[in-house]
Amino acid sequence: MGPVAERQALPPWLKVKLPTGPNVARLKEASRSRGLSTVCEEARCPNLAECWGGGTATFMVMGDTCTRGCRFCSVATALRPAVPDEAEPQKLAMTLKEMDVEYAVLTTVCRDDLPDQGAAHLAACIREVKKTCPDMKLEMLLQDFRGHQDLLEQVIDAGPDVVAHNVECVERLTDKVRDAKAGYRQSLDVLAHAKNYAPTKPTKTSLMLGLGETEEELVQAFKDIRAVGVDILTLGQYLRPSGSRHHLMVDKFIHPDDFQRYGDMAKEHGFLYVASGPFVRSSYRAAELFMKGHLENTRGA
Ligand code: SF4
Repeated sequence: MGPVAERQALPPWLKVKLPTGPNVARLKEASRSRGLSTVCEEARCPNLAECWGGGTATFMVMGDTCTRGCRFCSVATALRPAVPDEAEPQKLAMTLKEMDVEYAVLTTVCRDDLPDQGAAHLAACIREVKKTCPDMKLEMLLQDFRGHQDLLEQVIDAGPDVVAHNVECVERLTDKVRDAKAGYRQSLDVLAHAKNYAPTKPTKTSLMLGLGETEEELVQAFKDIRAVGVDILTLGQYLRPSGSRHHLMVDKFIHPDDFQRYGDMAKEHGFLYVASGPFVRSSYRAAELFMKGHLENTRGA
């Protein structure tokens, strides 16, 4: 089925009321008052209350403007965004301590304009958070550093508990969906090096569905991702962030039964954990709670 009409009506399983509540409002204020961006709010994620109420949250560091322009992403883009806030590591650590979350995800924009693409800043954020919240599990959802392994190692050395990098879509669609500086093979290489460099650290990636991929291409992506040692896989529905022509139309709204089936197919490839569903996002509470349990068990062993 080709792209549907300009305004794409959501199917019933995607129609949900966006979360509110006193705890959500308090936590929003905590992050906003320090000039921090949460992906949860930026992406108007329907899982926000469940995650924040349940002790997980996702912060975007290095500002809210990216040097890339992927056609599925709502983040602002510019050639030379503002210099990252030097005080961000402390602000982030304070906010996470205040939020009292058990599992936090740091994600980041790409900063192709910076000599180290922001590696030192990310490492500083991780170290400060780990120092201030030693019991909290921290996942770092990384960019690809244009394949520079030394920059990747610099961030891994800072001590995140989980290293994530998103492949985003099947290989054939990469040039259409992601920025020209990104690449399917480049992303697999990032994940492969993360696992080779720190073998005991779980790695994680995410695929968006509904962009025109075939089932055969999806299975091939499962194989490619598993072949580079990835432990955790999340599969979610691509949703168009705006009506602008820059953002790709949804090719298909995948039914929850098909997500279940794709999840089961992925599990057959030996992943430690697979989360698959219309609302599943790369940082998804269920996966995070699993990871927390897994990390505590392996740490205990
Ligand atoms: S690299 Fe792409 S997906 Fe990531 S923040 Fe930039 S535009 Fe969005």
